[in-house]
Amino acid sequence: MLDVLVVGGGISGLYAAYLLKESGATVEVLEAQERLGGRLYTIFSPEGHPIDLGGQWVGPQHHRLLKWISQHQIPLHKTYTEGYNLLITPARRRKYKGTIPRLPLGALIDLGIGLEKLKRMARQVSATHPWEITRPAWDELTLAAWIRKTFYTQTAKETFRVGLATVLGCEPEEVSLWHTLFYIRSASSLEALIETENGAQELKFSKGASSLIETFANTVPHTLGDPVVAVERLPNKVQVRTQKGRLLSARAIIVAIPPAVQSRIHWEPPLPPLYAQLSQHLPMGSITKVIAIYNRPFWREEGLSGHILRLQGGIRITFDTSPPDGAYGQITAFAVGALARSLLRVAPEERDRYYGQEMEVLFGQKPQYLYQKTWADEPWTGGCYVGYFGPGGWRYFGPALREPLPPIHWAGTERAHEWMGYMEGGMAAAETTVQTLLTSA
Ligand SMILES: Cc1cc2nc3c(=O)[nH]c(=O)nc-3n(C[C@H](O)[C@H](O)[C@H](O)COP(=O)(O)OP(=O)(O)OC[C@H]3O[C@@H](n4cnc5c(N)ncnc54)[C@H](O)[C@@H]3O)c2cc1C
Repeated sequence: MLDVLVVGGGISGLYAAYLLKESGATVEVLEAQERLGGRLYTIFSPEGHPIDLGGQWVGPQHHRLLKWISQHQIPLHKTYTEGYNLLITPARRRKYKGTIPRLPLGALIDLGIGLEKLKRMARQVSATHPWEITRPAWDELTLAAWIRKTFYTQTAKETFRVGLATVLGCEPEEVSLWHTLFYIRSASSLEALIETENGAQELKFSKGASSLIETFANTVPHTLGDPVVAVERLPNKVQVRTQKGRLLSARAIIVAIPPAVQSRIHWEPPLPPLYAQLSQHLPMGSITKVIAIYNRPFWREEGLSGHILRLQGGIRITFDTSPPDGAYGQITAFAVGALARSLLRVAPEERDRYYGQEMEVLFGQKPQYLYQKTWADEPWTGGCYVGYFGPGGWRYFGPALREPLPPIHWAGTERAHEWMGYMEGGMAAAETTVQTLLTSA
């Protein structure tokens, strides 16, 4: 019998298994898909350029991740930020530098006041016990309702919506204000979340995020392509059944998968009510990530950074993710808002065509290759980037997200109190869970 089985071979499950192995425990990771990495997924263009369809950026605050990257000498480079950013409104294109776009004066003041308010409010939410709702009104509101009552100008409203929808991966109507505040708090600050320099978008894996996952593949025992379909809790041990019929026993199990897909597992005895309902209350976001490849980053020659914020259309935000030497051009874009959502109803090829045209409108040239992914159709993930709570979610289901049910323990970025939604969060959740498991053993 193994000491621990880990369900899910994403960064969180892999890091948990690594930590357990380091402590001398016997462990095996069970992964549903034919590859490790989960929401970290690199494919390659016909020329061999890495295309990260999932997570790609690393921030200077991601200490665990940076330590691992440095120990394994995984190449990173800085996101290009030289030149002017562009704000595109229905009326015009404006150049600007820094994080906050050059809005008309009234809208700029409006936006500034709202952002300060949000930052102050976020400091009042506990990252470790976010289910302790100290301001019930903030948990009753959606982010959209707060935007409506906070901002006066349409431009500030729209700019804020695009920024926050891109950060959270869902629309402001779907998420509670309280969850938004927790998300900011878990990342330490709003600046750390939204900024490129000194923020979560500062660094990128030069060879793609799969170069991170490869460093785990040889050290952590794992099985691919065989989903866990049943988990039985027995006195002092757990028994697991996989789709291919394997039966495995261990003293404990770490479940490191998005809560939204945990109801695909048959739990025996059934999970307690609040744990069982968690997957109904923590849906995954539905953002679409678009990557366009050009033969060179020609916008740099025009003094532009490639970073665009757009208040209409499907694609609303773009970043230059080309290699530093500019050997080819790569734009990472995110599609949010009602139009992007409605496009999820059409065939992927049609979406490709649409986003190809959008890139041409934004950059003046058709991309050589275009890739887009929503993750909503990934059966073992359920969406992207991460799960989120609506009103009342943290209050009623927060404890079930984090508290173990020995011998069942939980990991995955959704369970993290630091950097929820990020690779760092996945590692943080793994660390907390392994510590709990080892001290309780
Ligand atoms: C488009 C996109 C962009 C992102 N950008 C960034 C970024 O720039 N920076 C950043 O830090 N983060 C980013 N993220 C988030 C980051 O990728 C995730 O936070 C992180 O990868 C989550 O890791 P995890 O191990 O918690 O979960 P996952 O990666 O989802 O891993 C869970 C694993 O469990 C497996 N699984 C599920 N059910 C079962 C089952 N029943 N049996 C066996 N296996 C199962 C899944 O196949 C999966 O491999 C992004 C995510 C997406 C999708």
